[in-house]
Amino acid sequence: MKKFWEIFAYTRNYRINLLGSAVFSILNAVLSLFTFGALIPLLRVIFQTGAENPQPPADDLGFFDYYYQWFCYQMDVMVSDGGAVRALAYICLATVVLALIKNLVFYVSLRNIAVIRTGVARDLRKRVYEHITKLSLGYFSNERKGDIISRMTNDLMEVEFSVIGTIEVMFKAPIMIVFYLATLFIMSWELTLFALIFLPISGFLISRIAKSLKHAAKHGKDKLGELISVIEETLGGIRVIKAFNGEKAFNQKFDDHNESYFRLMNKLYKREYLSSPMSEFVSLVVICILLYIGGSIVLGDQSTMDGSLFITYLVIFSQIIPPARALSDAIFKINKGAASVDRINEILHAPIDVANHPDAVRKPDFEQAIELHNVGFAYEDKQVIKDVSLTIRKGETVALVGPSGGGKSTLANLVARFYNVSSGEVTIDGVPIARVDLHDLRSLMGIVTQESILFNDSVGSNITLGSDAPKADEMMRAAQVANAWEFIDQLDGKFEFNIGDSGNKLSGGQKQRLSIARAVYKNPPILILDEATSALDTHSEKLVQQAINNLMENRTSLVIAHRLSTIQNADRIVVIDQGQILETGTHQELMSAGGMYKRLVEMQEFD
Ligand code: ADP
Repeated sequence: MKKFWEIFAYTRNYRINLLGSAVFSILNAVLSLFTFGALIPLLRVIFQTGAENPQPPADDLGFFDYYYQWFCYQMDVMVSDGGAVRALAYICLATVVLALIKNLVFYVSLRNIAVIRTGVARDLRKRVYEHITKLSLGYFSNERKGDIISRMTNDLMEVEFSVIGTIEVMFKAPIMIVFYLATLFIMSWELTLFALIFLPISGFLISRIAKSLKHAAKHGKDKLGELISVIEETLGGIRVIKAFNGEKAFNQKFDDHNESYFRLMNKLYKREYLSSPMSEFVSLVVICILLYIGGSIVLGDQSTMDGSLFITYLVIFSQIIPPARALSDAIFKINKGAASVDRINEILHAPIDVANHPDAVRKPDFEQAIELHNVGFAYEDKQVIKDVSLTIRKGETVALVGPSGGGKSTLANLVARFYNVSSGEVTIDGVPIARVDLHDLRSLMGIVTQESILFNDSVGSNITLGSDAPKADEMMRAAQVANAWEFIDQLDGKFEFNIGDSGNKLSGGQKQRLSIARAVYKNPPILILDEATSALDTHSEKLVQQAINNLMENRTSLVIAHRLSTIQNADRIVVIDQGQILETGTHQELMSAGGMYKRLVEMQEFD
């Protein structure tokens, strides 16, 4: 139940709707009672009980009995005066009008529930998404992408249906039950008290099964996350899977996951579906016992209850069953949904490692240098950067080279504060970057990644990403500087052209030039450039290199170089191997030193 309240807290933005729903639910319950109350006159008319000789109520009766007798008297008079058929017509008409009002009220209460239900789901989705965009990169390498997607879609949907969907029941059912019970108590407290004995028994049964449901649901959701991860991986690597004839292995892998998901869900539904037959059986037993006991009273000599009252009693009692069942179903569902609530909470409560410092320093400009002081970094417990010290002065181009896996990208990530350093410090103009306002820090840096990261949107939106007020003339200039205008000009709609998923409607070189245009548009003083490794044809290569040179002009650049020929003019080349700096110097200096750099250059010349 605690879980339910956690979600319930989201309803506070919908207080008016909650109130509306409660008021209309109560109205609905009252009107339902009147609808069933109409049974009494109906039965009296059909059986023409007492119509021969209508008796007004005696004065010494209790409140309920007096009005009941009075009502019967009026009915009997109506039948004896105007005939049974006419009385029947009146009753039917009254019942139709009553049912119309009741259902209108019911609909208004549901409309309020709709706002709450969809609103809470929207708010929750928004919060999870916002939190995801705040989490540091480290979170995404630890958690599998498919699992996150599964949590954001499946689990959220489960919460919407199982938990938020039950808000309606949670509101309406208790109100209905209380109203009906109160009426039953007034009609016959002995019978009602007897019926209530069964309440704790069914409550116990329901809670036992519900508890085991939560456990099974959690396993099920985890398994579904794994399943979606496999699908995601397959879609991403479908070309390689086909090229290496990997279909069979992947089908096998998918089957294994699919099969264990199937087994778990089978178990889960078998338990969940137990709820309905069980409560139906229990309620039928209760009704039969009531029928027997009540029937013996009615048939007995010293009858305190007349037949039509007893039938109405049973009808009202049977009306408790749907809300009671809905309530027990809701408890089941909530327990099942609680597992999803947990999974969503795991994301929502994941700590934001790279958060803005509480006393963050504003840093709109870059003036002198970025410095790394004895920086160390570990991914979980794997030390990948060890004691690195490096200064990048304003206007310099510093190239990081070295064997793959040496730690170049990690170092660049630390400078942009995608991760926090484990030891040492990175400073910008002497201020530790951990204390610099994160938005300012990222505004100072432009990043061009190895793979062009583009989004399913227009060319223009991809260039102006992150800009609050995109400027058309600067977008055009950026496209020209990045040598991208020549191909954009050919596209249908030019800047409006939609480039497809990850830019798959563009060629490799075009994608690269577009992501360079994005950095040019941002116009940051500092540039972090991870040179693309995938080779392009000579013409594209030349265009891209030219674009990069244009981009680097008048900026401070940190370049992760894969092709050493492109960085020979760098102010400084830093050779990194196994997380440490091996040598530093200009191309000439390092060539004459005859160390690793020279060997790397010679190896590449060989290619
Ligand atoms: P380079 O850019 O020089 O090729 P990286 O900085 O990418 O090297 O990687 C340095 C080391 O860190 C490698 O051993 C790599 O396996 C490890 N590494 C990189 N990213 C992660 C990650 N997200 N989680 C764990 N280890 C990682």
